[in-house]
Amino acid sequence: MPVPPAPGQTQPSIAIVGGSITGPTLALLLHQSGFTRVSVLEASPATFAQAGGVIGLDHLSLATLDTLGIHQDELITFPSERVTAIHLTDRTEIGRTHSIYPGRNTTWHQLNTALLNRLPAGWLHPGHKVRALHPGPDGKAVLELAGGGSIPADLAIFADGRRSTGRKLLDPTRRLHYAGYVAWRGQYPRHLPDLCAFTRYEPGTGQFNIFPILRKDATTAVDWTFYLNLSREQFTNLTGYDPTHRTYLLPHQIGTAARTLVLSEARRLLPAPAADMIDATDSWNAAPVLDIDPPHRMGHSIANAHALLLGDALAPVRPHTARGANHGILQAQGLAIALSQHLHHGANLNAALTGWQERYLPAVHDALRLGPRLAAAMGLGHTAPALIPA
Ligand SMILES: Cc1cc2nc3c(=O)[nH]c(=O)nc-3n(C[C@H](O)[C@H](O)[C@H](O)COP(=O)(O)OP(=O)(O)OC[C@H]3O[C@@H](n4cnc5c(N)ncnc54)[C@H](O)[C@@H]3O)c2cc1C
Repeated sequence: MPVPPAPGQTQPSIAIVGGSITGPTLALLLHQSGFTRVSVLEASPATFAQAGGVIGLDHLSLATLDTLGIHQDELITFPSERVTAIHLTDRTEIGRTHSIYPGRNTTWHQLNTALLNRLPAGWLHPGHKVRALHPGPDGKAVLELAGGGSIPADLAIFADGRRSTGRKLLDPTRRLHYAGYVAWRGQYPRHLPDLCAFTRYEPGTGQFNIFPILRKDATTAVDWTFYLNLSREQFTNLTGYDPTHRTYLLPHQIGTAARTLVLSEARRLLPAPAADMIDATDSWNAAPVLDIDPPHRMGHSIANAHALLLGDALAPVRPHTARGANHGILQAQGLAIALSQHLHHGANLNAALTGWQERYLPAVHDALRLGPRLAAAMGLGHTAPALIPA
């Protein structure tokens, strides 16, 4: 049963920007904790529309989702915990090593669908792109929408991803930096019955990962990611964009020149069956890998209101860390607890938010440091920029 607000407390109005993973997780956790005035503003006009591949969720994230009634059988089609690394020289296997991932793999689509399906009616607002934030006359934070209109809130919470509008508005000096390589992704439309482990090919320079998935149309396929070095100039020549501006490439944005280059590198670095898998996949997407100046805070004051950054909006981390979605989910869990202590037990809100930030920022700093080290071991990207003192 939802606990009523503590004496003297009123339900705050909460606007969450971003309807991917972090935003809907937070909304559901707030719903569970008895918050009633919550909106999720999502720029994309159609829900469930975005692409996205395998996401490794650790045990804490899985347990958090479980408390929301999202059990593993809804998310995890292929329950293997095993990771097999295949070491290559001249496209030939020279050995393999095995490890165990402390969690399970789902897909972005399964996770996003499970979350959005559970949002209370009227909470999700697709096609609501936030473009600005300013103090309102009554002390609230006012979110301005790109299509016109504005939404006042006691808490404006940005979970709007790698190119976060919230980060640009609240923490404008922190920059994204291109890490010097790109994650090319696709779904090879066949079932490989022998593929159980998350399998990583390591050619010395680059990395090729495969894992089976359940697709939107309920067929099984092999999700692949090919990490490949690409200079900023090459990226710009191939796409017409700077990699810190075009942070995701959709299938129609990957032209013949990019495809030809990636395929020739796949043929140079990978065994023929792996390169064939890439070749036989019609529709690719891609994400240039990015670093970011480390965050020093997650919360900001706007008049008498609070504006917060979570998940990739706070700091995208390199994909090899498998931390991005996990950070978003755990930060959401911690924030829901802090806000609930305020609403239901009268805890001081500033102190609750400071405690939340002190607990979750160090993990972000650790992952920002770890990513470049993992990539360097694969011959990927620039030498780690000294973003954060050790
Ligand atoms: C190749 C690859 C592999 C990965 N593997 C893993 C893994 O194994 N484990 C893991 O934990 N993480 C992994 N990640 C990272 C993970 O995908 C991200 O960390 C995660 O998607 C971040 O979720 P988010 O909800 O914070 O942001 P996003 O998923 O980026 O969502 C942001 C949302 O905000 C919306 N939005 C943006 N701007 C606005 C605006 N102005 N107004 C309204 N809405 C807006 C967007 O449309 C989007 O829906 C991987 C990433 C990549 C690229």
